Amino acid sequence: MKIIADFHTHTIASVHAYATALEMIHEAAKIGLECFAITDHGISMHGVPHPYYFMNLHAIPKVYEGVRVLKGIEANIVDSKGNLDADEQILSNLDFCIASLHMPTYKDTVSVEACTEAYLALADNPYINVIAHSGSPYFKYDYEKVIKRFAEKGKLIEINNSSIKHKPEFYPNCVEIAKLCKKHGCRVCVDTDAHFVTQLGRAEEALRMLESIDFPESLIVNANRENMQKYFEENNIPLY
Ligand SMILES: [Zn+2]
Ligand SMILES: [Zn+2]
Repeated sequence: MKIIADFHTHTIASVHAYATALEMIHEAAKIGLECFAITDHGISMHGVPHPYYFMNLHAIPKVYEGVRVLKGIEANIVDSKGNLDADEQILSNLDFCIASLHMPTYKDTVSVEACTEAYLALADNPYINVIAHSGSPYFKYDYEKVIKRFAEKGKLIEINNSSIKHKPEFYPNCVEIAKLCKKHGCRVCVDTDAHFVTQLGRAEEALRMLESIDFPESLIVNANRENMQKYFEENNIPLY
């Protein structure tokens, strides 16, 4: 298996990432990615952009150097109600929105109940496409409950290559989440969470994990053009 698109990447606008949007586009074109999303961190993370950054992303063409560039955000979940650090004005302006729990930006009680509640609220948020790197042992949630709901609502669970490659403590959770996605028919996207060009589009570790559990390609929205197109059509994301 391979990925033809990468829906979770960062640029220098996130400050702790190190390539420009143009360098990321060059790299995507070089390695033959059809599409990628620029999803810099939401405004409550340290050193991140002003809301204008997200409002003006349309300055970057839809397709550049043959690559479909989605304008997105990795918004931070700030509480157990699933509130985010990006408002409707920002989210409605973007092609692809990720919601994530990060330690520095979550300001509420940490418990399985709280994380479950937050993710269930996001299943009902029309602007959110996916929850990212949810295999964190710190932010455990009721996997079965959330994944079932995500499957019903057509939301995605991210299989994050960076978690699988660099965080051994996330690994068993990522496997369990993937198995439940398979069981309940919940679609996933396999993303790199790239913070530099050399990471973009390279998701071998995540794909190997999915292969080890016979995860069906039909549930990976960025594994082939047909899956991606179907997902885009359902979510009103123009392909080109
Ligand atoms: Zn980051
Ligand atoms: Zn993140």
